[in-house]
Amino acid sequence: MSRTDEIIEMDNRFGAHNYHPIPVVISRAEGPWVWDVEGKKYLDCLSAYSAVNQGHRHPHIVKAMKDQVDRLDLTSRAFHNDVMGEFLKKLTRFCGFEKALPMNTGAEAVETGIKLARKWGYEVKGIPKDKAEIIVCSDNFHGRTTTIVGFSSDPDAYEGFGPATPGFKMIPFDDLDALKGAITDNTAAFLVEPIQGEAGVKVPSEGYLSGIRQICTDNNVLLLLDEVQTGFCRTGKRFCWMYEDARPDVLLVGKALGGGLYPVSGILADGELMDVFTPGTHGSTFGGNPIGSAVAMASLGVLEDEELDIRASELGEYFMSRLREIGSDRIKEVRGRGLLVAIELFESAGKAREYCYKLKDRGILAKDTHDTTIRFAPALTVEKADLDWVVDQVRAVLEE
Ligand SMILES: *Cc1c(COP(=O)(O)O)cnc(C)c1O
Repeated sequence: MSRTDEIIEMDNRFGAHNYHPIPVVISRAEGPWVWDVEGKKYLDCLSAYSAVNQGHRHPHIVKAMKDQVDRLDLTSRAFHNDVMGEFLKKLTRFCGFEKALPMNTGAEAVETGIKLARKWGYEVKGIPKDKAEIIVCSDNFHGRTTTIVGFSSDPDAYEGFGPATPGFKMIPFDDLDALKGAITDNTAAFLVEPIQGEAGVKVPSEGYLSGIRQICTDNNVLLLLDEVQTGFCRTGKRFCWMYEDARPDVLLVGKALGGGLYPVSGILADGELMDVFTPGTHGSTFGGNPIGSAVAMASLGVLEDEELDIRASELGEYFMSRLREIGSDRIKEVRGRGLLVAIELFESAGKAREYCYKLKDRGILAKDTHDTTIRFAPALTVEKADLDWVVDQVRAVLEE
């Protein structure tokens, strides 16, 4: 039995079966590349769902983490520590908001945004007790907590986990009229991804982001943008909302904030709104901890120093135009923004997963979503020549 098979068997034997991974066992990583236990090298075109925008084990981030580990570990928020404040100062400046609240995972950031929106709804907007509504979109992905899966439209995500938390209303994505129609006096917020990543990199029509901003403003409804996946330069700007100047009231971030080394998430808002939270109303043992704070500060530093927003934008345009040149009759569409790219295949072309297996054999790790779509999201530090090579491999598997 190969080392790969042995390890996969161990995972299956001792672990819960809540994932269906591509059968590769990774044991080493550097920059955009990873190596499996047999020594084979791959270009990582998933980047842990965009948590590794800076590339694996970026030396600046690794150093910041090691230095911090040698000095101070965990304090909890019962005391101050000498790292969190610097981190929040850097984060708020990077994102262009007055205040931030640090958490750990993306789902926690979403939960934090929901709590803030509801409390604002009652205390500021004057919604009657327990009547607050939050509007969400079908095909959303916001995480895996009980409340979040309760407003998912994917049966795999919600079935068997009811009863769902009340107070959510679903509308189609990329539909401004549906948003206008769904708002009532009790609407506290609209929660949406600027590009639906897990749904298969669904990019909304031009004018959608500015449109939802306007509708929310006109109706005194908070706009909560989930940029856990699209944020931190992935789509070619620091945040995807910047394409249409659709600055949200609450920005939800995670994934690449931790540079692939440590889970760090958070929400950003301006002072008056954030002040809805008072002592005791929200918290997290690990949120804002010194190691996460040091890692996140370094992760932001890398995005700035290496201008990864510009790099993602230029490389993404180039990559998509080269993929479109393939011109295979199996390809329905190549779409994306920056280096968040998807190829959607016609159903007649077979399952996207089969192509992911073939790409794996050729040294590319990509992940299928929703049967017919293959997502490509390499580290933003990837080289142009590597993308040319990816295009050649994609062309080859489509011609097989
Ligand atoms: C990954 C993701 C989340 C959840 O993040 P976790 O860290 O897995 O909890 C939330 N929203 C979006 C858009 C995501 O892509």
